[in-house]
Amino acid sequence: MARKKIIAGNWKMNMTPSEAVELVNTLKPLVANDDVDVVFCVPAIDIIPVVEAAKGSNIQIGAENMYFEEKGAFTGEISPAMLTDAGVKYVVLGHSERREYFAETSETVNKKMLKAFEHGITPIMCCGETLEQREQGVTMDFIRQQVKVGFLNVTADQAKTAVIAYEPIWAIGTGKTATTEQAEEVCKGIRECIAEIYDDATAAAIRIQYGGSVNAKTAPELFAQENIDGGLVGGASLKPDFGAIVNYNK
Ligand code: PGA
Repeated sequence: MARKKIIAGNWKMNMTPSEAVELVNTLKPLVANDDVDVVFCVPAIDIIPVVEAAKGSNIQIGAENMYFEEKGAFTGEISPAMLTDAGVKYVVLGHSERREYFAETSETVNKKMLKAFEHGITPIMCCGETLEQREQGVTMDFIRQQVKVGFLNVTADQAKTAVIAYEPIWAIGTGKTATTEQAEEVCKGIRECIAEIYDDATAAAIRIQYGGSVNAKTAPELFAQENIDGGLVGGASLKPDFGAIVNYNK
């Protein structure tokens, strides 16, 4: 079965609630492409107004992070049940910015992955190497480790529904997109890693995105690759450009 592409915007720490509603209203008609899954991953405070604004459209809403406990004394954190109650379907986990600035490790990402599945939220688990690691030739070793730890105790049936975003850190927000060959090579390697952990059927089902300076110009070629099932888009997801990215196949 062919995998349906999934194109997700990662708004990061941008857009106040009122700006968020305005952006959804602007983008709604531009991202109406039923051939792909369209997800807006937005700041926690924007979730409720954005779910409301996106009603009746093809846009699904994701969170940018989540905690792995059910409830209790965890000041400042947001639980999976809070997200599902608000209408969230996806959650970005282990983004490199969270790993770098907020001490996320593959172990905490794994705990969040398990919790997300338990609550029926689809994780978009990020992985990716630094420029230094690429230059040292350890890209695939590093990413395989991130994937193996991230998926510990995740069942094959759960893994089949998951999304992995390959985001080379050196390509995020830098305007430097990985070449199509580089992106496809790593996404293929990730799929092989999933086949080793589980089996061929799981590897064939899981969706793997590329992320890192994706724009309307680079999207069509990237998304045409055998192992690239869409993108996680930062900067360009805040602009009408996102419409062109979502309609890369038109
Ligand atoms: P970018 O961000 O598209 O602005 O490079 C991608 C991401 O960090 O998800």
